[in-house]
Amino acid sequence: MTAPTLADLEALDAADPLATFREAFDLPPGVVYLDGNSLGALPRATAARLAEVVGRQWGSDLIRSWNTHGWIDAPQRVGDKIARLIGARTGEVVAADSTSVNLFKLLAGAASLRPGRSTLLTEPGNFPTDLYVTQGLERLLGDRLSIRVVAAEDLPGAIDEDVIAVSLTHVHYKSARRWPMAEITARAHAKGAVALWDLSHSAGALAVDLNGARADLAVGCGYKYLNGGPGAPAFLFVAERHQAEIRSPLTGWMGHADPFAFVDDYQPAAGIRRQLCGTPSILSLAALEVGVDLMLRADMAAVERKAGELSEAFIALVESRCAGLDLALASPRDAAARGAHVVFAHPQAYAIMQALIERGLIGDFRAPDLLRFGFTPLYTRYVDLFHAVETLRAVLAEVAYRDPRFRNRLSVT
Ligand SMILES: *Cc1c(COP(=O)(O)O)cnc(C)c1O
Repeated sequence: MTAPTLADLEALDAADPLATFREAFDLPPGVVYLDGNSLGALPRATAARLAEVVGRQWGSDLIRSWNTHGWIDAPQRVGDKIARLIGARTGEVVAADSTSVNLFKLLAGAASLRPGRSTLLTEPGNFPTDLYVTQGLERLLGDRLSIRVVAAEDLPGAIDEDVIAVSLTHVHYKSARRWPMAEITARAHAKGAVALWDLSHSAGALAVDLNGARADLAVGCGYKYLNGGPGAPAFLFVAERHQAEIRSPLTGWMGHADPFAFVDDYQPAAGIRRQLCGTPSILSLAALEVGVDLMLRADMAAVERKAGELSEAFIALVESRCAGLDLALASPRDAAARGAHVVFAHPQAYAIMQALIERGLIGDFRAPDLLRFGFTPLYTRYVDLFHAVETLRAVLAEVAYRDPRFRNRLSVT
């Protein structure tokens, strides 16, 4: 694609069916925010919603709110809403815990679905928590389970009859490479394995279709594209056909068949509710629900289309405006093989990102040398790309990143 002009980008904004969603977010002036894939922006409705839940529900109605304001059903209610964004059915998703904890529950659960098998298959460079949680499970279960890490290009051929689960992140958090979900799931099924997808970088950004792909299990993040707020509850999906059989290793009381019977012996709830563990985080779920409700008003096919167009336009602009400035595209060039973010490699990526942030362009640095830019179709405008790339060009051309103040490593990058 040839690089769009500012007028081209303005025309794209004028014709954008999602353009009005931006108004629903409270974005600071003077900032181009290309980091909604790390922490989604604040929906305008969130503050009032939280004030209501804190002031009236908690403050006045107190413990009665568990019943009168549906607190007790919030994990399932919000889960059912997320289900509609990811091609799942009612009763297949709950919003609870963190992505890390949900990975633990479902990887252990997968082992309970495939007794006699011992391999959890994943790829090197998967998101750290996905690898660490699998390693932790391996230590816990000793000989019963082992992690096998196989490079992406060899992974499909490495699925054999010992594999419990193929555990992959749908859209890679660094490169944005997108796994063909239906194809890999079918390969797993052909060997009797299940497929577990981490949707952290795809839920709310792409038209994910878990049941269309026959996926077995999935987890994902609430604070990225779903705009649920910092540390928002995550979600997990168990396909209906596995729900009677799968067991959670975290047998807390909220997953009990009858939590308020207060009996001594654990009995799993029917359906997806057995994946709950402890008392739900009501304030966080309330914020997440606002983000999810907003997303539900958008057509996910339009969201995915815009994500592809934004990333295409961004790559074309960077490659034309920043030519000769040492940037190398480190994401797939084909939009169909990519998620909603783009990474460029540069040896001075850390300092460059610090300099960009100082000039109002917020993206991420990812070790060791990547500049990551995320495109959130609900609030990224096409014209934002133009200003972002002009800022990037200026920082590179002026070698502004050489200033020592950009070299101090902060604890969160
Ligand atoms: C962001 C992200 C997570 C986050 O896990 P937490 O438990 O919320 O810290 C997990 N997996 C992937 C692939 C992610 O991108």
